[in-house]
Amino acid sequence: MATRVAGTDKPHAVFFPFPAQGHVKPALQLAKLLHHCHGFQVTFVHTEHNRRRLLRSRGPDALAGIPGFRFAAVPDSLPPSDVDASQDMGALLFSLETLVPHFRNLVSDLPPVTCVISDIEHILVASKEMGLPCVTLWTTSACAFMAFQQFQQLVNRGIVPLKDDDQLWNGYLDNTVLDWVPGMPKDMRLRDFPSFIRTTDPDDAILNLVLRSMAYQRTTPTAIVLNTFDKLEHEVLIAISTILPPIYAVGPLPLLLDQVSGSEADTLGSDLSKEDPACLEWLKGKRPNSVVYISFGSIATLSKEQVVEFAWGLANSKQEFLWVIRKDQVGNDASDGPAAVLLPPQFLEETNKRGYLTNWCPQEEVLQHEAIGAFLTHCGWNSMLESISAGVPMLCWPFGADEHTNSRYACSEWRVGMEIGSDVKRDEVESAIREVMEGDKGKEMRRMAMEWKEKATLAALPCGSSWISLEKVIGEVLTAPL
Ligand code: UDP
Repeated sequence: MATRVAGTDKPHAVFFPFPAQGHVKPALQLAKLLHHCHGFQVTFVHTEHNRRRLLRSRGPDALAGIPGFRFAAVPDSLPPSDVDASQDMGALLFSLETLVPHFRNLVSDLPPVTCVISDIEHILVASKEMGLPCVTLWTTSACAFMAFQQFQQLVNRGIVPLKDDDQLWNGYLDNTVLDWVPGMPKDMRLRDFPSFIRTTDPDDAILNLVLRSMAYQRTTPTAIVLNTFDKLEHEVLIAISTILPPIYAVGPLPLLLDQVSGSEADTLGSDLSKEDPACLEWLKGKRPNSVVYISFGSIATLSKEQVVEFAWGLANSKQEFLWVIRKDQVGNDASDGPAAVLLPPQFLEETNKRGYLTNWCPQEEVLQHEAIGAFLTHCGWNSMLESISAGVPMLCWPFGADEHTNSRYACSEWRVGMEIGSDVKRDEVESAIREVMEGDKGKEMRRMAMEWKEKATLAALPCGSSWISLEKVIGEVLTAPL
């Protein structure tokens, strides 16, 4: 299948990311870098659902491509769902195998493919069976990846699944210290591990899926690419490189991409929701570091009570704020738009004075805006890296999956974050916001965030660690003689 004669044709990379915003975005960033800097032909594969979302959010030309960069779409097996909403993640996770025959057909119709880059294990396995070099683009932090890799140990040691509900709720997650994980601090707690350990069921489908997927990561890909940088996660990167295929840390991808902005590829986008550019207008003229930005990413759903507690915490803090509440953030409650349905009228009066509510914003640009003083985040990895890249301190409200691990590192290791309890209460939100915006701890977090920004920027320069790593994975894996 891989018929490129080394040194004669352009390499042709097929990207097939897990079909969710936080995976599609970094995959497109890496694809653009390969296309722009190294002349790769790229085929970028979406699911039909996401193709429809992109056409709706970005217009009819969204998937027209540019010379040497095409888009393709394959059906998933899920029932049709609202194009303005994320798909059910559970259902999506368990439907991925059905993508394989479509992927195989697609590859056989394409010009010769020289490598596949994906984070869907079934696509990696199929690629390997087709004789194609396959590379995982793993879209969490390295520390979360290492934590996922420990799941089998946690099962072997009888720690997971938990014995009963009491362990789940009564301090066991806080008090259980795991001091044996290579490359991680000796005081990691069970609660710092990805949320899929929070089960008492040995047959828990997601726990078992993680166990299987982590085993595949050790054996299937030719290499693993991570959206992080060496200085940020040095120790854990060294440790995971001893148990996994060759690791390449090439992040933060948005900063590497900044190095080559001004190319035709700038027009290619991955926002599955329509951006509201007016929020950048609203930020204009605000004092530096004076606005709190709030977003819980593309998947997390909150209860109405949680939204209301955040709202009053924000209002009572008396700080200016820009708040993204997705249309599908609170189940179906918010189908008419967030403000009208969810928030108390008195809060909306506050918003008129000092806030801006929107469904989706150009987050990277928002975080880079000098007016943003803090980011209240669910700790999705893209959001955290974007915040670190912009030198913005964080209030961490980890929601699920890898976010607990990211939050732990942000608060204790990188010292750019402060956690808000999962049982959100308005008083705690108010005092955390005041602290990060006005307090001494906030000043220190901002200083640290600026230090990390500088390190991230250096890593992304052509002589920096991430750029060198990118050159290496291209030379050693993606264009290596077949
Ligand atoms: N995002 C955005 N606009 C928004 C909210 C989020 O562009 O209003 C982007 C954000 O910049 C990030 C991605 O959506 O790149 C969310 O990914 P992340 O890993 O942070 O969280 P997930 O959505 O996977 O939970």
